[in-house]
Amino acid sequence: MTETTITAEELQASEYFHGHRCPAMPQGLRAGHVAMDWLEVPRARGGGELVAIIETGSHHFSGCFADGVMFATGCTFGKGNLIQNPLGKFALTLYVPKSHQAVRLIPHYERMSQCLTMDFFKLRAQGVPPFDLDPKVTEPLIQDVLTKPWTEIFALQEFEDYPFDPVPDVFEAVQCSLCHELTVKSYAQQFHHQWYCKPCLDGIIHARLAPTV
Ligand SMILES: [Zn+2]
Ligand SMILES: [Zn+2]
Repeated sequence: MTETTITAEELQASEYFHGHRCPAMPQGLRAGHVAMDWLEVPRARGGGELVAIIETGSHHFSGCFADGVMFATGCTFGKGNLIQNPLGKFALTLYVPKSHQAVRLIPHYERMSQCLTMDFFKLRAQGVPPFDLDPKVTEPLIQDVLTKPWTEIFALQEFEDYPFDPVPDVFEAVQCSLCHELTVKSYAQQFHHQWYCKPCLDGIIHARLAPTV
């Protein structure tokens, strides 16, 4: 496999999108490129070519990983081809619906746990934002994640027939009978022959269930 090099332009553009320089975002770039190179697929333009499944959660260290994955693969929140399976892990699974093939990249335990002992993470844990850190603390980690052979960063699992049920895009919408807001049909529900959005229907049902005495 020939790995696509992360150019200075891509790094700069992804840092602009992400908001700051840090090592976790480029680790996501790296994971995204390795996965695409392994599967021999280009970056997603629409929502149907690729699906990225990330296992990071929210409000924990190195969550920035997800932004690098999005930037590299084109699998984004808006296109609906980025799925967060919040397990508190740093794996990326990239799935190709057309061939049903997938790869899962998971950082080596030793490397990730060693990173946690470095000043970068100690200072971050103390509440110092990444953009206020001394570049002497941040830059070696960024260079490391950009230049180390990918096999020293990630382990790779390959799937020939990954279990995944695609959800078709919906192009229909209805008007909620109560709040009158436009609601995508698959998110609306009918009750007594009227369409309702979820909060309005919940409100109606809740009011009916409320004790009357
Ligand atoms: Zn970051
Ligand atoms: Zn409503």
